[in-house]
Amino acid sequence: MKRLLLFLALLLSVSVSYAEKVKVRLFSNNKIEAIYVSFDLGMYDLYADDGMLLEPSLGEGMTVELKPTATGVSIAVNGYEYGNFRSARLQATDTACIMCLNPKGVKQRTYEGDLVVSSFDKSNLKIINEVEFETYLAGVVQSEIYGQQSDIFRVQAMISRTWAMRNMGKHKADGYNFCDYVHCQAYQNRCVRPDIILGTMQSSGETIVDADGKLIDTPFHSNSGGQTANSEDVWRSALPYLRSVTDTFSFHMRQSNWTKVIGKEKWLNYFAKTHKLDITNATVRDELLSFQQPERKARILGVPLTRVRTDFGLKSTFFSVSVDDKGANVILTGHGYGHGVGLSQEGTIRMVGLGISYDSIIRHYYTGASVHKDENVSESYVENFVTEISKIIEEDKANPGQKKSKKDDWLGKLFRVRDRMDREEEFDPSKQEMEEDWKVEW
Ligand SMILES: [Zn+2]
Repeated sequence: MKRLLLFLALLLSVSVSYAEKVKVRLFSNNKIEAIYVSFDLGMYDLYADDGMLLEPSLGEGMTVELKPTATGVSIAVNGYEYGNFRSARLQATDTACIMCLNPKGVKQRTYEGDLVVSSFDKSNLKIINEVEFETYLAGVVQSEIYGQQSDIFRVQAMISRTWAMRNMGKHKADGYNFCDYVHCQAYQNRCVRPDIILGTMQSSGETIVDADGKLIDTPFHSNSGGQTANSEDVWRSALPYLRSVTDTFSFHMRQSNWTKVIGKEKWLNYFAKTHKLDITNATVRDELLSFQQPERKARILGVPLTRVRTDFGLKSTFFSVSVDDKGANVILTGHGYGHGVGLSQEGTIRMVGLGISYDSIIRHYYTGASVHKDENVSESYVENFVTEISKIIEEDKANPGQKKSKKDDWLGKLFRVRDRMDREEEFDPSKQEMEEDWKVEW
């Protein structure tokens, strides 16, 4: 019990930086004609028009139905119609709150934090999740990478945090920070995996900086195919930390190799029509039919490979060309998946598997860059939180298949820790009272 109290005291000392919230637009790739919100854990207060309380303490068994109108939303709770308002806000009453979002015609998702709903027009809702930055990041990491080891998630969290801090104003004109789609970073659900929360926590306060200490641009892709690309070969500017490097770690993974068969005439005519190449010229024809990339190139006969990739829907620009036995088709033999600039996710997964440290991985993919640790994030805070999550993971492993209520599973326990921290701040109870309270809760 004493250990926990110490842990909580440490949590308190840095809680401010973690309470910072971001606004993320949800279902940004869909048109939402109605959404049904129910509650998996905790209580939510329902407000309309920035402050009018409609219903306090909504919880299990309650459903809020929101539909767009020309000027806002119509609100109903368990079938009771409240009418039309400019906006609706579902505000979590403590840290341990999970809501379940069921938009019409779209797969349901769960999120933490608050929800603010208004409309773009009478047939499309604007749905914003106001959520703690690190909670958002854990959801992003879960959406962006696969794997089993926490260092994989630590690297992805660092990249995603660095990207987010550089791009806080990306949707400023739209009234939120980020969308939940690949335009920003995928955020398809709340994080439901303790190992991902562990990796994200381990990376607390860590960002990636260049030699001058400035946050870098952190592009990543699925698999480099064995060599990453220079930034100027894919986009416009040549960045010193986005250099092409040999990357054997990307071999022998899910996305290491691909092939694509295209009709020979279709292939040649594409270059003739779209890029005005003279395919009657034997040298041109020969190059188009036997183009080789033992190392990454940026162009084929002056045509950017990025353009060819887009036009044929190829997995990467890192391919060589041959003609099949009958002479009817060209076969593209390719490596990797994605634009190839910056970090290879599958290379990272392999490096972590080989025991290579997370900071070495960052230095491998981002030339001359390094990991910066925010001094305001207490190391002991992170260590203690990591210890608590690790303990919860071990407990769960020791009791496989044991059915638990949401409050008693690992996430529930984690929420209790954070919730306790909030309440302690609010009520400042004596240590004696806390001890008693803890015995009941734990
Ligand atoms: Zn976006």
